[in-house]
Amino acid sequence: MKTLRDIDVSDKKVIVRVDFNVPLEKAEGGYKVADDTRIVAAMETINFLKDKASKIILMSHLGKPKKEIKKGKSEEEVRKKLTMKHILPKVTEIIAEPVGFMETLKDEMPTERIVLLENLRFDKGEESKDENERQELAKQLAGFADVYVNDAFGTCHRAHASIVDVPKLLSGAAGFLLEKEIKALQPFINPGKGSVAILGGAKIEDKLSAIKSLLSKYDKVLLGGGMIFTFFKAQGYEIGKSLLNNDMVGEAKELASNENLVLPVDIVVSKIKNPDKKLSELGKEDYSPPKMVSPEGIEPMYTGLDIGSETIDNYSEIIAEAKKIFWNGPMGLFELRDFSYGTKAIGEAIADNKGAVKIAGGGDSVLAINQGGYDIPVSTGGGASIELVEKGNLPGIQALENNP
Ligand code: AMP
Repeated sequence: MKTLRDIDVSDKKVIVRVDFNVPLEKAEGGYKVADDTRIVAAMETINFLKDKASKIILMSHLGKPKKEIKKGKSEEEVRKKLTMKHILPKVTEIIAEPVGFMETLKDEMPTERIVLLENLRFDKGEESKDENERQELAKQLAGFADVYVNDAFGTCHRAHASIVDVPKLLSGAAGFLLEKEIKALQPFINPGKGSVAILGGAKIEDKLSAIKSLLSKYDKVLLGGGMIFTFFKAQGYEIGKSLLNNDMVGEAKELASNENLVLPVDIVVSKIKNPDKKLSELGKEDYSPPKMVSPEGIEPMYTGLDIGSETIDNYSEIIAEAKKIFWNGPMGLFELRDFSYGTKAIGEAIADNKGAVKIAGGGDSVLAINQGGYDIPVSTGGGASIELVEKGNLPGIQALENNP
């Protein structure tokens, strides 16, 4: 795979796939950027190009327009909420140079040297499974430039037009951020003796294949988060109102018998009085005081929301002995203080093992690390980091490797 240093960008038009999928917050007249980490992270590549290229075209997705429409929002509402226009002021401020905005791909190319395109996912070609549809968008994007740069590690596990199809049409390279992220994760692909993976989060469907693969490579795989209840269900326990993916129970049962898989021995449960509210937005008045129970002791009306203190001790001991530690996903509903102790304790235990090589990935783990101020290197990509560690490659990286 070529990197920015290997290609000639002098006086060229360069199209850069960045990851400006930043969190937004409501502001006067719309939304503004709530956290600019990802924009700042792209600056090494952008600054390098500012010194050399004749034109820089930045493209990114923002949020999940298709999912919002599925949830019942109109296309107009979604376009209003997820337009890159919300990001433009922050991008302009950080780049410290006027940035033009291209509302549709049919518009005339703005005259500013640096241009930001509208949300890629507003075009059906970006995420399409139909290669012809993706190619159609890719042709338009490639038509704007001479060279393609991918600096969006967090999206490299997606076979999207801007990730896999544009580099079929233009000579391309990895940006500095992408290069750095891949290097940082290399040691975790075949981690060797003394390795521990800690996986949490809610969506077992996203992580089951990774758990399977990591079990074959890591000495121990410790599990937390909402996905553990599918395992408990597989073991025949009552799990009350805890998260469950019924389709995965069979596979969970198979994995649970692997002696390298470690499950919690106690969990924090609570009775949720307001089931219509989003879990992360519950107020104290919406749930009963948390209590700790064993996996066999979950009562029918209760929901499991964090790992318990004996589990924290077990996991911390294993983490303290580890030589390599890979962490992805929170141990509980960490957005609420009452259920954040497991995630915090695991963060602390990882940070305390000063001799280990370690990395954490995923927006939620990174947020928890930033909140706790733990000294743990982070990867910006959640799904991408886990898939790279699992498979040793990603569609976006492969596309650059195959680049003509
Ligand atoms: P994921 O996107 O799959 O990595 O899941 C991250 C989300 O899982 C976070 O918003 C957590 O609050 C949530 N989560 C973690 N543990 C639980 C749990 N026991 N029940 C429900 N949600 C959880």
